[in-house]
Amino acid sequence: MDGSIAILRRIWLAVLAASASLALAQPAAAQDKAACNDASVLGVQRVVEIDAKGGPLLGNLQYKEIDFLEPGEVVLTFDDGPSRQTTEAVLAALAEHCTKATFFMVGRMALAEPDMVRKIDALGHTVGSHTWSHANQGSLSAANAEREIELGVSAITAALGKPIAPFFRFPYLSDPRRSINYLEGRDIGVFSIDVDSYDFRTRNGAVMKQNVLSQLQKKGKGIILFHDIQRSTAAGIADLLDELKRRKFKVVHMVAKAPAATVAAYDAIAQKDLARRKVQTANNPLASRSMTWPVETGAGSGPAPVTVARPPSQQLPWKPAAGTAAAPPARNADAAAPQAARNTTPASRAERPTWKREELPWQEQMWNHYR
Ligand SMILES: [Zn+2]
Repeated sequence: MDGSIAILRRIWLAVLAASASLALAQPAAAQDKAACNDASVLGVQRVVEIDAKGGPLLGNLQYKEIDFLEPGEVVLTFDDGPSRQTTEAVLAALAEHCTKATFFMVGRMALAEPDMVRKIDALGHTVGSHTWSHANQGSLSAANAEREIELGVSAITAALGKPIAPFFRFPYLSDPRRSINYLEGRDIGVFSIDVDSYDFRTRNGAVMKQNVLSQLQKKGKGIILFHDIQRSTAAGIADLLDELKRRKFKVVHMVAKAPAATVAAYDAIAQKDLARRKVQTANNPLASRSMTWPVETGAGSGPAPVTVARPPSQQLPWKPAAGTAAAPPARNADAAAPQAARNTTPASRAERPTWKREELPWQEQMWNHYR
């Protein structure tokens, strides 16, 4: 009896020793995978594949036709980055919970931090675009609005070194119909939001967390807007993810059915800018001191993704024929007043100019830093 226990113990110790040396030898990905099976992490409940053909419009704040989330499900989205100072904390918190998000990047931020763009992709997150320089589409000429969209896609693609997802979010959620038409023609999906972290209004992570939780309490699900350039999000995201887990929310990860195409003329501009920045970085090595990449993805094998495509209600009968300038009728109440639309009450529409004023100086400050 004693002998067999001793043998068992020896076998057990041998197994332990083997797994210890395996753990040392294995890359981070394998260890992450083990941690990802832990029931205490959020993980990814479901992968939803978005078919961006025809430019579907998603996010209940502005567009009501597509609702792919079940009660209790959330989508994590991060705009305006990447930023060396704050995005790392966001990535660490997501990794801690083995969960995945979508990053709507600003083109010139991506060109300033191409290593971070690649790292975000390598971690298994989805990379979408948020224009070239975060200009308000509603205040641009047609040519400049197009340039903002195209140079954004080309710049982020150039920074990543491979195609991004055809996923787009309007700066300030300002979605003029002309730009929506353009994106439809480019087979790029437009993503609005359901829940706003208002992380740009505070530097306090606990306030940001409470903003999200109180809205989720009412709505029960939704696409959540964060900004990975905001300190409140960098500071509060880990606690928020813990709390989402405690409250039994599930994370849905959006992926693209097909990659975003780029326009050659804008690719050329983006590549030139990227090359210029590489020379600058080479001349100033300290500028890239904090880069560590790539990190392996810890994505587990979940169920087959559900595909979401543009529904018949978004097959727009009013779309003008090529060459005509006829203005289409309003798509819906939100589309008729897209600049407002924080929600449907007149009081909150009045808040919107404040929101713009608050967001702009911070970003300008960031971008000036990276120029
Ligand atoms: Zn933004």
